[in-house]
Amino acid sequence: MSAIGTLYIMSAPSGAGKSSLISALLSSDIGNASVSVSHTTRAPRPGEIDGQHYHFVDVDTFKQLIEANEFFEWAEVFGNFYGTSKAAIEVQLASGTDVFLDIDWQGAQQVKKLMPEAQGVFILPPSRAELERRLIGRGQDSDEVIAGRMAQAISEMSHYNEYDFILVNDDFDTTLNQLSAIVIGQRQRKASQVAAYSDMLKDLLAE
Ligand code: 5GP
Repeated sequence: MSAIGTLYIMSAPSGAGKSSLISALLSSDIGNASVSVSHTTRAPRPGEIDGQHYHFVDVDTFKQLIEANEFFEWAEVFGNFYGTSKAAIEVQLASGTDVFLDIDWQGAQQVKKLMPEAQGVFILPPSRAELERRLIGRGQDSDEVIAGRMAQAISEMSHYNEYDFILVNDDFDTTLNQLSAIVIGQRQRKASQVAAYSDMLKDLLAE
């Protein structure tokens, strides 16, 4: 698959602010960018809408989609299946839209193999204490549940080195600006610019 838009692989431990950063970026004036809606076998959480947050499917349907080769990548995360369908990204990228994948490190490895030009962005919390605070802050869970979340977060963070960019989300607006800067910078790369300005270049270079 050749892409005109850039595919961004966004990963982070839970509590790093990944989803909020992606949605804030897409509601900003960044233009021409979208988020891929994954399929999952996990149950919807309160407030989650089918087709908007995820395509919620049962395990049989998910397995049929794997068999039918519909997924660009898929992985089992915390006991549930998650996958990015080819349909969710191909048309968008081909039309020049940047597409954001909110996926885990296992999916990220698959995407990098299939599309090396995809840009991986890993978001870290500013400190262990702050990560703990954010994981606790989500509800009234038991110490055991929180310890489990912390272990999962550490396991996800151990893959930071497999990404092209690392953002440390201490101050939200600063991190959002840094993410915008990555996207804007990427759009000025030679391959995109040559495609966008082919006529102008011809004109400029005419003798
Ligand atoms: P949650 O259930 O909290 O929405 O997501 C759990 C984890 O699964 C997050 O790290 C999220 O990024 C990851 N995830 C969501 N969709 C996909 C997907 O399509 N593929 C992969 N590999 N991971 C995903």
